[in-house]
Amino acid sequence: MSPSTLPAMLLDIAGRHGPSEALVDGETRISHADLVRRSAVVATRLRELGVEPGDRVAILLPNGWQYAVSYFGVQLAGAIGVLVNTRFARPEIDHVLGDSGAKLVITDRDLPGAIDAAVLTADHGETADATVLPGQHTEPGAVAHLLYTSGTTGRPKGAMQTHANLMFNAGTVRERLGAGPGERTLVAAPMFHATAIVSQFIGFLANGACCVFTPAFKAETTVALMASERITFFAGVAAMLRLILLKAKDAGADLSSLRLFVMGGSPVPESFPAQVLAQLPDLVLGNVWGLTEGTSIVTFTAGAEYLSHAWSVGPVVDGVEVAIALPGEPPRDLRDTVGELCVRGPVVAAGYWGNPEATASTFVDGWLHTGDVGSIDGEGFVRVLDRLKDMIIRGGENIYSLEVESALAQHPDVAEVAVVGVPDPIFDERVRAVVVPRPGRTPTEESLRAHAAELLADFKVPVEWRFVTELPRNPSGKVLKRELTDAG
Ligand code: ATP
Repeated sequence: MSPSTLPAMLLDIAGRHGPSEALVDGETRISHADLVRRSAVVATRLRELGVEPGDRVAILLPNGWQYAVSYFGVQLAGAIGVLVNTRFARPEIDHVLGDSGAKLVITDRDLPGAIDAAVLTADHGETADATVLPGQHTEPGAVAHLLYTSGTTGRPKGAMQTHANLMFNAGTVRERLGAGPGERTLVAAPMFHATAIVSQFIGFLANGACCVFTPAFKAETTVALMASERITFFAGVAAMLRLILLKAKDAGADLSSLRLFVMGGSPVPESFPAQVLAQLPDLVLGNVWGLTEGTSIVTFTAGAEYLSHAWSVGPVVDGVEVAIALPGEPPRDLRDTVGELCVRGPVVAAGYWGNPEATASTFVDGWLHTGDVGSIDGEGFVRVLDRLKDMIIRGGENIYSLEVESALAQHPDVAEVAVVGVPDPIFDERVRAVVVPRPGRTPTEESLRAHAAELLADFKVPVEWRFVTELPRNPSGKVLKRELTDAG
């Protein structure tokens, strides 16, 4: 039977995959057995520092082996990890620490309540009894960690992901992403985001695979590590894949070990998979739709299925349901009808930490209201059209930014594009396109407008055009649309 909590999972991997490589971070290589031993030592130190089961312990660190050992140390101490965004400014960090009531912060920074990560995780060769790990009585329904997410409004809220959520997702990672012994994933997105911590880190380790870390996404380092570490699986937004391909071409890098590249976290233009396969014909591409409140993976498609449904994020994964909520109505199994995508099943998180109001409005009768607008076709393929908050409403007409972006991405001079709504005195909102031209090309407004007019209804054609060298993105590569709506 598969383990149902993180401590049980750690015992399981130490027993089944002990000597094989679990983590690579620069020169540091750690086996599964050693990962568990080191984590158990950290747990013992945390207990000595007064950490009790259920206490919150924050981790504010860059990606790397210290993050991994601290994370599992917190789990083996029976505590709840609070995974803090390293990009947050001091008031935001204070909000997260205050909101979660963190007792300690494991960090490399100078903060009140901080414990130096290097001291906490230092290896003095102490042995921990890996058959009697602390924390092994954790219940599957207990909260494992809080991931702070902005969601649609307000200050970041701590989404509570349980051990059961994480172990269910690890099963999906095995079944659908093919994680298992011998597989190697490169974790380039930050560990405080769901894809990295839940699917790549926990999901791959739980199945006996190896995680190679890079402190932050840089195309050059990523390509070099993919080649030297023989990476088999990568996950990231489509823009990362675009940069990786450009860099790999320049450097003549050997990416032949790469078995599957899964895009997700933000929309993938429909024309993109075919463009990628023109350069790397053997690469299998996938698309995942998911969200922090839905643990990580909700829908998935890959290979030939994805290529024949490039407009879709795939069908919902086994054991989970997806449905459509129309305004003011409960979710129903509606087909080919646009509405809010809602999710039910073992991926739905336990709510927001200490925030019953936000929990009650997002998690309703077991259904997670995702804040994404989309539809489901007769065969169960899900289409994501936009986020409710990003949807543009021009003179009463709904315009989904993804549809406009997909049309513009087909223009030969366009490398990337983001479409946003900006205030308009007559129509309430108007469509602005922010375009990154392909290197060496200078698309004109006229040619882009004419291209868009051939593919889209007239009210969807952008009326404002901006040309930039790159789009503003967060560390996981998502476009920061708010930064594109300024009046200037
Ligand atoms: P933050 O926590 O920084 O506010 P966020 O709101 O983007 O970020 P996440 O939970 O990381 O939080 O993102 C989930 C959202 O990302 C989804 O609700 C959806 O809008 C978008 N998304 C994820 N995967 C896809 C995909 N494959 N295609 C289109 N959109 C996607």
